[in-house]
Amino acid sequence: MNAETADVVIVGGGIIGMAIAHYLAERRFGRICVLERSYVGAGSTGQSVASIEPLSLFSSTAILQRRSYEVFLNFRERFGGDGGFVRLPLAFFVDQAQLPALQNAVKIAQDAGSTASILSPDEFRAEIPDVQLDDVAGVYCSPDAGFADPVLTLNGITERARAAGIVIRQSTAVDSLEVQAGRIIGVRTAQGVIAAPVVVLATGLWVEALLQPLGIRLPVRFLRHYVVNLGTPAGALRHSIIDGVLDFYIRPEQAQDSCLMGMALHNAADTFADVHDLSKAPPGVSQEMGFQVWEKVVTRFPFLEQAHLKRGYTGVADMTPDNQPLLGPLPISGLFVAAGMSGIGFKMAPGIGQLMADLIAGEAEAARILYPLRPTRADEGSLLVPANRLSTIA
Ligand SMILES: Cc1cc2nc3c(=O)[nH]c(=O)nc-3n(C[C@H](O)[C@H](O)[C@H](O)COP(=O)(O)OP(=O)(O)OC[C@H]3O[C@@H](n4cnc5c(N)ncnc54)[C@H](O)[C@@H]3O)c2cc1C
Repeated sequence: MNAETADVVIVGGGIIGMAIAHYLAERRFGRICVLERSYVGAGSTGQSVASIEPLSLFSSTAILQRRSYEVFLNFRERFGGDGGFVRLPLAFFVDQAQLPALQNAVKIAQDAGSTASILSPDEFRAEIPDVQLDDVAGVYCSPDAGFADPVLTLNGITERARAAGIVIRQSTAVDSLEVQAGRIIGVRTAQGVIAAPVVVLATGLWVEALLQPLGIRLPVRFLRHYVVNLGTPAGALRHSIIDGVLDFYIRPEQAQDSCLMGMALHNAADTFADVHDLSKAPPGVSQEMGFQVWEKVVTRFPFLEQAHLKRGYTGVADMTPDNQPLLGPLPISGLFVAAGMSGIGFKMAPGIGQLMADLIAGEAEAARILYPLRPTRADEGSLLVPANRLSTIA
């Protein structure tokens, strides 16, 4: 029996894989097949807080964020459905040590076409009078921010991809990659081989499992996010907040009477085997952990003391040593990766989809923009180092 064939196989049905598939279809790249071992959105995408804000210390990711923001703003027009995008200004608090990094971030955002500025604590108090900012030296603000519904967004992109003729197979795990004479020639699933000259690994946390047998190691580690839903008075917060001093984030939910707040913490109990097994329920948020996040929020916003903890959940982000994604070709001809999203993959997904599709189509401009994010940079000793550091992922 002849093997099934495709022009491109994309492994992973999260927002990154689907966005790449969509933009390849827009380029009429041929027969595109997305293989998802569970269901579309089963990975980090379904757990995402989905905050969207222009905050980066590197121009490549600032460009990805800006391109993505324009897609989120015009989501209905581009995808025909509602991605649940709500525009909301960002406020990011830092202490004195982080101020120089913020100044860089403003310039990088502006160069990429976003609006950003730094307010003094007193200037910011004009926007939220009841905020406690004694330990804050500056507030990075941008109106080009907001949040979306991760499931609605992914559904919108998936429906558009399906309508464009992309084959999407759920419950279809790729067990191994087929390589011949240094070239990718396809993927193997339990149902057989799909032959393809181009394969893109958009497998999030699970990227190493397919690469290890080929002797390729990518520096991906896990970071668990603890997310808690907080019942608040209606309209209590009108900003999306990242607190780089107390280390938490909080944003309102669409329903207006609650917020999602969270923080990321390394959990020594997270093993590769546990994280890899989607059938294992992730650990929830303990009462103690919930209060830990709540206390930080109330320290910053004393008026939220009456807010009450509702349900919580945890999810795992795929981190790289410089907290920037791994995007580009691997040392096997025709094999590409888009993984290691470092907890910021949702807000960059449309831009990553566009530029990865351009890169696969051989466009030099995409290769130039994505070059600093090449997946081999750690081995080459070329990790991205910002001029000044922030305490949070940027
Ligand atoms: C709790 C939490 C909050 C977050 N909040 C934000 C935020 O506010 N803003 C932001 O920008 N980002 C945020 N992120 C990060 C963002 O959600 C992720 O970076 C993004 O969703 C990653 O998408 P992905 O497609 O790379 O991965 P995933 O969504 O994990 O998709 C990968 C898919 O690949 C499939 N797969 C794996 N191996 C195989 C195989 N061998 N064969 C077939 N399929 C396979 C998996 O089943 C999975 O569905 C958050 C992440 C978490 C966990």
